[in-house]
Amino acid sequence: MSLSFLRLLRSSRPSVLYSPRVRDYTRTSGIRLLNNDASQAQLADIDVSKLEVIHRKDKKPQPASAGLKFGHTFSDHMLTIPWSVESGWGTPQIRPYGPLELEPSATVLHYAQTIFEGMKAYKDEQGRVTLFRPDMNMRRMNTSAARIALPTFDGNALLELIKKLVHLDKEWIPTLPGYSMYIRPTMIATQKAIGVGPPNEALLFVILCPVGPYYAGGFKPVSLYGTTDYVRAAPGGTGAFKLGVNYAPGILPQKLVGEKGYAQNLWLHGPEHYLTEVGTMNLFVVFEQDNGDWELVTPPLDGMILPGVTRDSVLTLAREHSQGKKLDGLDRKITVTERSVKMSEVKEAAEKNKLIELFGSGTAAIISPVDRIGYMGEDVHIPTGPDGMGPVSGPVLRELVGRQTGTIPSDWSVVIDEP
Ligand SMILES: *Cc1c(COP(=O)(O)O)cnc(C)c1O
Repeated sequence: MSLSFLRLLRSSRPSVLYSPRVRDYTRTSGIRLLNNDASQAQLADIDVSKLEVIHRKDKKPQPASAGLKFGHTFSDHMLTIPWSVESGWGTPQIRPYGPLELEPSATVLHYAQTIFEGMKAYKDEQGRVTLFRPDMNMRRMNTSAARIALPTFDGNALLELIKKLVHLDKEWIPTLPGYSMYIRPTMIATQKAIGVGPPNEALLFVILCPVGPYYAGGFKPVSLYGTTDYVRAAPGGTGAFKLGVNYAPGILPQKLVGEKGYAQNLWLHGPEHYLTEVGTMNLFVVFEQDNGDWELVTPPLDGMILPGVTRDSVLTLAREHSQGKKLDGLDRKITVTERSVKMSEVKEAAEKNKLIELFGSGTAAIISPVDRIGYMGEDVHIPTGPDGMGPVSGPVLRELVGRQTGTIPSDWSVVIDEP
């Protein structure tokens, strides 16, 4: 980072500028953002009417749904939209899925200027195609872009283009239960010059990936290792944004806990060992309180936690339950809180049989129950239900999947294609 850029950052602190599309989201998540200069200028935004479609001539062979490995298969087409500092967002193209052309100097390859999103399209038995809360992904992608001085964009316009891409490749959406089409919007800095600063060129692209259940064995509980030697996120850092730079440093710790016989890192923060996230998922704990009620807890959006769409959905469903709109299969009263949880609290609750369950949440795996945490040389055991899911996560998962796939009507499900 050049000195002058640092000075610019510092000098503009007192009167932080927000673009309107970022402001709404930061208000709900409590994240303060400094927006980049480029998006403040009057440049062209994404224009759906300019879309060019280049159809693939040779349709790729489609593998059988049952053999799909998460993230390994891509559909026929992709969406690309170039951006430059002089003219803003350029012509959107839907074109055959294939390699991108990048110069070796492209700054993304040196300074990790890359952000991404993860969302899913579902197709029901009648052929109706839906997205789940896609507006949240568009808002979050803009906050991620702004955080690393990539250009922001009109989220509604990108969403319209994603719908067109999904429509074109809709025969790639698997219909087996638990199957869907994973959508991966990405933005990279493509400036052809070595140097750290806001890029003068960028590329937004979207690829589609037919997927089955994230864990091949179904909702089998996973084991975690309470990681204290490495950090995923720190106060004032970038943990609350979906930036590529947050993931590379987690790969070695993931490999190391794998060698110890655990599935994922449980990222613990500070000398108090606060629970933050599980691998690349948000985290929930259920405690039994002294009066017999249950408390569903998740760490607060303090800047270290990624504001997950699934996290928000679990919180909303649980809050509706506590306000009387009962979740099917959950009779217990629960209180829902966003607060910090120390590992000592989890361990003590486990010892006193007050720990009901612990699970991760994210678009890819939806809900991931946990059955044990390796912590300071011993295992903390966590109860799991007969089918792997716990007494809160089970009913939450059924409601969530129902709303995602459209079997339970809700305004979270956006129909993009009628049969
Ligand atoms: C994407 C992600 C999540 C989950 O977010 P969803 O919107 O629910 O998919 C949680 N934590 C991290 C670190 C993530 O990258």
